[in-house]
Amino acid sequence: MTDTIDADANAASAPVYTVTQERKIVTAIPGPRSQELQARRTAVVSEGVASALPVYIERANGAILVDVDGNQFVDFGAGIGVTTVGHTEERVVEAAASQLQDVIHTLFTITPYEEYVRVAELLAERTPGNWSKKSVLVNSGAEAVENGVKIARKYTGRRAVAVLDHAYHGRTNLTMAMNYKAHPYATGFGPFAGDVYHAPNSYPYRDGLSGADAAARTIAYLEKVVGATDLACLVVEPIQGEGGFIVPADGFLGILQNWCTEQGVVMIADEIQSGMARTGAFFASEHFEWEPDLVLTAKGIAGGLPLAAVTGRAEIMDAAQPGGLGGTFGGNPVACAAAVAVFESIDRNRLLAEAQRIERTLLAGLARLAERYDVIGDIRGKGAMIAIELVQPGTGRSSKQPYPEAVGSLIAFAAERGVLFLNAGTYGNVLRFLPSLAVSDALIDDALQVLDDGFAALG
Ligand code: PMP
Repeated sequence: MTDTIDADANAASAPVYTVTQERKIVTAIPGPRSQELQARRTAVVSEGVASALPVYIERANGAILVDVDGNQFVDFGAGIGVTTVGHTEERVVEAAASQLQDVIHTLFTITPYEEYVRVAELLAERTPGNWSKKSVLVNSGAEAVENGVKIARKYTGRRAVAVLDHAYHGRTNLTMAMNYKAHPYATGFGPFAGDVYHAPNSYPYRDGLSGADAAARTIAYLEKVVGATDLACLVVEPIQGEGGFIVPADGFLGILQNWCTEQGVVMIADEIQSGMARTGAFFASEHFEWEPDLVLTAKGIAGGLPLAAVTGRAEIMDAAQPGGLGGTFGGNPVACAAAVAVFESIDRNRLLAEAQRIERTLLAGLARLAERYDVIGDIRGKGAMIAIELVQPGTGRSSKQPYPEAVGSLIAFAAERGVLFLNAGTYGNVLRFLPSLAVSDALIDDALQVLDDGFAALG
């Protein structure tokens, strides 16, 4: 295993791609082989598992997905922000393959191994805050959220959990109660966990509030509706993901952290979508000079293998009794080896700078589109986490009526031409750009041209 990451000693070399980095459509979408697979799937896979685009993927590399019919898609979803270092990134593949030969599983809570410890060391180094930190590794984002809440409750001895409007935290029982949107995540799946409170967020495009005013509104809610002395934790995505890449107004997060610290509330950053170099900083919290008590990571941490973590102040993390945290697969050695390779790739491939490049290219291209298409009400985000919010024609300066139909049409239009975009937003009217950091400017420009044609076709 590599003990230290030294970016200078490992100067960036041009990535080698095993799939040409271009879009290519050779059949109708979905193609015949995908349609056959879809028919088999319909017979045996629960209808509860939906797929945005039923093309079956055979290979993936860099920023490109190749389906079973030979179509190539430029991937602006990255498995919802997972393959941040690129699909099948060579170091990740090598590290995971080598680990498969050595040891696949022991269970860290029975007989431990170095890779788990190394991931915890890297998380302690890279998460915001210059204090002693510890971690627990788990399998999924929702499991990280659940564990963060458990730890905060044990540490504070308090019961209540607060989240923000437009939040998304997962599909387990507790996290269903923490999401803003009931449908489709929670509808019919209750009863839900109690003691979860939804406080107002900061949504500059729609509320027009400064960070200080939005934070005052949030704090007033928490003090009146919950009561600080009963509040264990406030869980916040620094940039809200499924909610529509909502970037809070400056100052909002810092004021909330100060209030939490004064009141003995644990403030938890859900960096599951925004973390791991995605936004041009290692963690999105850094853009807001926010140093959270606990940080949740998942998605991008292991290049596509399932791994997640709760990392934070050692005294909070140690509040859990021995045996209280863990699980059979949590911190699997193969996923941990891949995660170590992800940390190395971020440094060696200078991926923070790549995310900043992607932000510049996307923002410039989208600004040009917004001059011509007034349905683009807002352009926002950071790094490779950028979104446009679409509003009904002529309402952008007044009522900002959501226009989800346009998002649906644009996504379908682009998919048929080999570009995979995702939607987002409480009102379904946000188109998000969440590519891997391997996506070139040429691929971005190409995708934006497809989007331009899609806007023109909207009429
Ligand atoms: N939190 C955030 C911010 C997320 O974006 C997600 C996944 N979209 C989750 C939690 C849940 O993660 P998982 O799907 O791995 O359980």
